[in-house]
Amino acid sequence: MLDQVQIELLYRHGHYAAFVLGACLGSFLNVCIWRIPNNMSIITPGSHCPKCSHALSWHENIPILAWLLLRARCRWCKSRISVRYPLVEALVAILFVAVWQRAAEFGWPLPSLFVGWFLVCILVAVTLVDCDHRIIPNKFTYTGLVIALAAALIWPQTHALDRITAEFAQMVARCWDGIYGRRQIVVLDLVLGVILSGGVFWLFSAVGHVILGRDRQQLEPPATVVLTPDNLQIAAAEPTAWKDVLYTDADRVELIGKVVAADFKDPESDPTLAPGEDEVRIVADDMGINAGGVTVPMTAVGLVVVEARQIVLPRLAIGLGDVKLFAVLGAFFGPAGAVIVLVMSCSIGFVAGLGFGIVRLLRGRRWDGSICFGPYISVAALIYLLRRDEILSFVLWHWLRLG
Ligand SMILES: [Zn+2]
Repeated sequence: MLDQVQIELLYRHGHYAAFVLGACLGSFLNVCIWRIPNNMSIITPGSHCPKCSHALSWHENIPILAWLLLRARCRWCKSRISVRYPLVEALVAILFVAVWQRAAEFGWPLPSLFVGWFLVCILVAVTLVDCDHRIIPNKFTYTGLVIALAAALIWPQTHALDRITAEFAQMVARCWDGIYGRRQIVVLDLVLGVILSGGVFWLFSAVGHVILGRDRQQLEPPATVVLTPDNLQIAAAEPTAWKDVLYTDADRVELIGKVVAADFKDPESDPTLAPGEDEVRIVADDMGINAGGVTVPMTAVGLVVVEARQIVLPRLAIGLGDVKLFAVLGAFFGPAGAVIVLVMSCSIGFVAGLGFGIVRLLRGRRWDGSICFGPYISVAALIYLLRRDEILSFVLWHWLRLG
């Protein structure tokens, strides 16, 4: 192991290494952000151009630089490479340096630095996937929970206890069975954090779904809605994949209108969905398309076109992914930290959500009331990660007058 002097030297001169490591991991995150929501392996195949499938050589994989040297175009098919790739790499690199600086300033042990870097990766990935797909995949949140627990068990010193939770956890541990080593207290703090932050946020989400859960739209004049096994298309909008419409197993899309065209793989499967002049009520959910009490599985549907007068779409104010992300933060930051991050992210989310909502309304577009919350949680969590001591002392000692 390194002694204190060596660690100090390492911290003083390691900015470049932190930057390079961050950029490389940012490059890997780009792969995860693209592949994990699409259920693709993150290992095989290796990096390739999404257009022409040409495998990238090592120098076309150099973070940030490759994009600049290739002038934002694939070397083979000349298709454009999004500027988002180098930006993500640069962002992760900068955040790695920021965590590094914080670690040096506050004399974090090395494992705490790794935990901080890991959190940066999870938060950046979650933010971008949430913006792209409006989901936070379990793969990210569950990995976060496992790493938080493993870190707390292997290196209890990485789990920063604040005074209130430390005293509370110690009290509980004493009543429990008299063992109150650092490791037990840290694990208790972690469990309390997960339950409190995940639980509170789950309540938010449940209340939100009850109040805002269904979005009923009258379509005047009637709009053409196309249902296929893979997606739903409303009027001239882009087709949306079912998984991005139906958020939970209980969600469903309801349509009232006339069937204009219907094509089934098995023509006998559902006479009620035949084209006709009568208005029908059609319900589409995970099970398939239902009209008049008969459900046709999605796999048996070719195409159904409805001239719809009314549509009811599921609406999720706060997704379960957000709840799980909060549980992860509770695991890393403990109950007090998680509550502070919750308040911070709600404040940021409220202001930003209101701003976006107003802009949308001013442009004459409908706002469905949903916001993707992951980015705000991530921003709040990153601020807390980098300014934890200042925030805690402000909230606990000055504001709540404890201490
Ligand atoms: Zn290409």
